[in-house]
Amino acid sequence: MWPVLFFLVTMVVISQGSALGLNGHQIHLLQPKSGSWGLHVPNVSCLSWRLGVETHNIIGWSTVPKECEGYVGHYMLGYQYRSDSKVVANQALLYAQSLDLAGDGKDVWIFDVDETTLSNLPYYAEHGFGAEPYNSTLFNAWVLEGKAFALPESLNLYEKLLSLGIKVVFITGRGESQRNVTTTNLKNVGYHTWEKLILKSSSYTGVTSLVYKSSERKKLEKKGYRIVGNMGDQWTDILGHHAGNRTFKLPDPMYYIS
Ligand SMILES: [Mg+2]
Repeated sequence: MWPVLFFLVTMVVISQGSALGLNGHQIHLLQPKSGSWGLHVPNVSCLSWRLGVETHNIIGWSTVPKECEGYVGHYMLGYQYRSDSKVVANQALLYAQSLDLAGDGKDVWIFDVDETTLSNLPYYAEHGFGAEPYNSTLFNAWVLEGKAFALPESLNLYEKLLSLGIKVVFITGRGESQRNVTTTNLKNVGYHTWEKLILKSSSYTGVTSLVYKSSERKKLEKKGYRIVGNMGDQWTDILGHHAGNRTFKLPDPMYYIS
């Protein structure tokens, strides 16, 4: 009985591996083929694409591959996105708690806004989770509604950082014209105080996010602030100069900003 059962299970596992084209390359045989763990798409593993995006191996992309729209949607709306965000926030908190802070009010933590402290998921859910080309008119209209919600893991981290005596500075690619709605939106969802809210002024028109954010961080340090931590959903939030003592990358497989 047992040898027969073992044979049947082995055959099922082998046949699944064959279907995935994994013969001879298995690291682990138990690979789910659907849902947020890896929607099966011929010739494209959306999970591999997302990993490439998150590790900054895939850069400069303009839209989510059309065949991965469903996969990214499941990921963003499901358990995995929140779980991944929680790991990042937890590590950030452990790091912050380990710091020997001067207590002079000059220790700051930089947060990006969109997909970091605020989530635009309701908008992206209506627009293909990044599979539709970016439409600035539609997106700005959404921003002006001021209805973005807080990413819970970031809000929790924000509260803990404040309690540790670390001040918060937001640096966002949103323009100065969106200062009022951004302020109101942040306050409405729980971000009740901050040291600075830095928006992209017109002097940075045509300048990449990487250069803009690096320049603003440099100004902060010139004013005597110490950037103890820096968190964003884009690599350009945390690369460049004056990036901070430690950086934290939140997941975002929906869009890429250079
Ligand atoms: Mg962002």
